[in-house]
Amino acid sequence: MSQDTLIIKFGGTSVGSVEAMGKAVQIISRLSREWPHLVVVTSALSGITDLLLREANRAAKTGEASHLEAAEAELRTRHQSIAEALLPDDLRAPVMEEIQQLIGNFSQLSRAIAVLGEATPRALDAIASLGERMSVRLLSAACRAQGLATHAIEASQLILTDDRFQNAHPDFTATTGRARAVLWPLLQAGRIPVVTGFIGATPQGVVTTLGRGGSDYSAAILGAVLPAQEVWIYTDVDGVMTADPRLVPEARTLAEISYRELSELAYYGAKVVHPKTVRPVIEAGIGLRICNTFNPDHPGTRVVPERVETNGQALRAVTAIRGQRLVTIEGRGMLGVPGVAARAFGAVASTGTSVPFITQASSEQSICFSIPSTAHEEVIRALQQAFTLELNRGDIDRVWASEEIAIITVVGQGMRETPGVAGKIFSALGNENINVWAIAHGSSDVSISLVVAQEDTERAVRAIHRLIVDHGAA
Ligand code: ASP
Ligand code: MG
Repeated sequence: MSQDTLIIKFGGTSVGSVEAMGKAVQIISRLSREWPHLVVVTSALSGITDLLLREANRAAKTGEASHLEAAEAELRTRHQSIAEALLPDDLRAPVMEEIQQLIGNFSQLSRAIAVLGEATPRALDAIASLGERMSVRLLSAACRAQGLATHAIEASQLILTDDRFQNAHPDFTATTGRARAVLWPLLQAGRIPVVTGFIGATPQGVVTTLGRGGSDYSAAILGAVLPAQEVWIYTDVDGVMTADPRLVPEARTLAEISYRELSELAYYGAKVVHPKTVRPVIEAGIGLRICNTFNPDHPGTRVVPERVETNGQALRAVTAIRGQRLVTIEGRGMLGVPGVAARAFGAVASTGTSVPFITQASSEQSICFSIPSTAHEEVIRALQQAFTLELNRGDIDRVWASEEIAIITVVGQGMRETPGVAGKIFSALGNENINVWAIAHGSSDVSISLVVAQEDTERAVRAIHRLIVDHGAA
């Protein structure tokens, strides 16, 4: 099966309008002629997951249900307008009826949340999953309208997870059995399964989600367990770019990127693929490609196991994560005290905050890491509590959070072997008068991260991007 199976995943903007879904259908149609077995994974229409979660949270907060009617109407029109353009009457009526039922679920669940005044993670997953449950029906029917033998499937039948709602972890062994049992017979019968991204279910059948943006991960999971030969992620840009084109107009698409480079980029804020996507495909040795639904003839970016360095092009791409703060724990009494880091990160973890950046001075007199800005008060409180004794004794002088900062990450597999790269990066920033507050070498050795003041983000990204372009030309 694996040699001839392709999985393609469409993101929200790739199915979010009549034009987009029309293009997605054309792509599915063409690829179904080129590949013996094709599996389609889809996101919700763009903006729908946001809408569902926003309205549910509002119901919880206000205890009001009056805003829900407008939301229901919007859910209906967004799907209806696509159905009207792409589906003939006989297909449209049953699909819209099912979508209307799902909107009814949304309404009931949200009203219950308004009464309870609380939205549990489990309830939020039930609501968030509705976006994909609607889009999958629409996309599958739009394909059938073009004569394709598609079959809509909810991934709660295929992907089994634990019960960490809103960020569920798949059980690969159980998923392998389930996914093959459902998908293989369909593929053998020449059908094209169209599967919801983003969602799974516990062994008891309760719907979970894999985390925001998790449809890419769904495609990778299915690719790994079937297995497939290739997973292609269709999005609204030509592939992985050297920088965010909104910050750097000269940014260009990379023809090739290594898995490790891609995971660093995804982790450090490049929104092309969900960071969890990479691991299952590497482990299963599956090809990965990022393509553009709106420019399907463009080859996109090919993700490869190892990139052979050419032209000394060591720096590949630069990203920025804004809205962070640096937290510093400092004190001369920390020197050599075991367990400070463990307790610090334990305290941060207890607040449910993730830490994208860590650095420690070798003197062990301070530990410094970044957290999302919005969490800083809670994190500082947790740390002060964890270190009450040390603070009272004066072993730790203080625990504090900086102003808002940005983490700039430069990625490139050849960086390690290329002398002077770090020097060039620092000179480029120095020439622009940009102060670097902290640095860290990426754990996977293909990236360097620097902390700069938030207001320097754009200038820093542009200055570093000029090095990428210069390198490319050299
Ligand atoms: N619809 C989900 C979200 O917006 C999953 C995805 O699009 O990947 O987070
Ligand atoms: Mg996405």
